[in-house]
Amino acid sequence: MTAASIRRASMDAIVAQAEREFPFECCGFIIGHDSVEKVRPIANIQNAMHAKDPAAFPRDARTAFLMDPKQHLAVMNELDRRKLALRVVYHSHPNHDAYFSTTDRAQACSFDPSEPDYPDTVYIVLSIRSAKFAKAAAFAWDPEKKEFTETPLTIE
Ligand SMILES: [Zn+2]
Repeated sequence: MTAASIRRASMDAIVAQAEREFPFECCGFIIGHDSVEKVRPIANIQNAMHAKDPAAFPRDARTAFLMDPKQHLAVMNELDRRKLALRVVYHSHPNHDAYFSTTDRAQACSFDPSEPDYPDTVYIVLSIRSAKFAKAAAFAWDPEKKEFTETPLTIE
């Protein structure tokens, strides 16, 4: 099982972002290696897509997120350039619990439903209630069960 461990500064940054972007879902990445850990917030473009094409994007950003593709790509390029690992994909659930939904699973396995896009990456979900942080939970891919399962989240 992949254990989830992030630094206090990273946790504080993603909680602050999630509270700031309430009542909408926030999203982003935590990247790093042994001695470096960086938070890379990504804009959630779900509201813009919903406004443009509500049939294709029936949910707005209160219950969904879609990462800005340019910002997403910039982080992928940064990983390459700086030889960093994609440690965490995070997003928030405004006024919902910190669980890994079927939509979250589908998004995490966008290329192949039996394999995540990033099998070694931990997924953190933040529950935000009335603009205040309530709970965080981490989920990691279990290759035997072929499912995401909750894993302890350690804040260093
Ligand atoms: Zn979710």
